[in-house]
Amino acid sequence: MSLSSAEPAQPAPRSRLTVLAGPTAVGKGTVSAYIRDTRPEVWISVSVTTRPPRPGEEHGVHYRFVDDDRFDEMIAGDELLEWAVVHGSARYGTPRGPVEQALRAGRRALLEIDLQGARQVKESMPEALFVFLAPPSWEELVRRLVGRGTESAVERARRLETAVVEMAAEREFDATVVNTEVHAAVTELVALMSSVPHRHDRGISGSGP
Ligand code: 5GP
Repeated sequence: MSLSSAEPAQPAPRSRLTVLAGPTAVGKGTVSAYIRDTRPEVWISVSVTTRPPRPGEEHGVHYRFVDDDRFDEMIAGDELLEWAVVHGSARYGTPRGPVEQALRAGRRALLEIDLQGARQVKESMPEALFVFLAPPSWEELVRRLVGRGTESAVERARRLETAVVEMAAEREFDATVVNTEVHAAVTELVALMSSVPHRHDRGISGSGP
């Protein structure tokens, strides 16, 4: 019997959470969907939301769709690691239990959330890795925002204003991944998630917009 086999089994070391955030329309959803489809080694948190499902979205896969009462209960029961009202309408939140479980199991764990949520996680888990997903340029972000063509002119103007503020948040993050093309962005993000066992000093200040 070798020495090593006589040692008690060590539990997997707790892993470090990665939080991905960025401006509206930068393609966070596309990046997380691509990871879900191609990177089974990455655990992605499934958020709860009060918005209704869109065609093709599955309960428990893309989101857990809940009503306002259930969301209130989850807040009251301290079941959410963070939560926010996004685009002035629905509420979105990260269930705490599954994140804790994934980290304890040593999994590479990822949250794809909005900036308000990222700042809350920074408060409770400052050791996490905060990655900003940026557009290749401001012009490209505007093109992606307007290109959807689903919003009214007033709504578009409101989103552009929000995007200016959101872009300024980049300096609060540990690292930036530029989303020029989804495959390359995912490769870079997963490499970042794998490379840094300990966080560096730079962090979200909480003094942003
Ligand atoms: P959508 O409704 O298009 O799926 O998502 C809208 C926005 O909600 C995106 O910016 C996404 O990052 C954000 N979001 C999704 N889940 C969460 C969450 O659990 N917490 C927070 N704070 N934002 C979330």
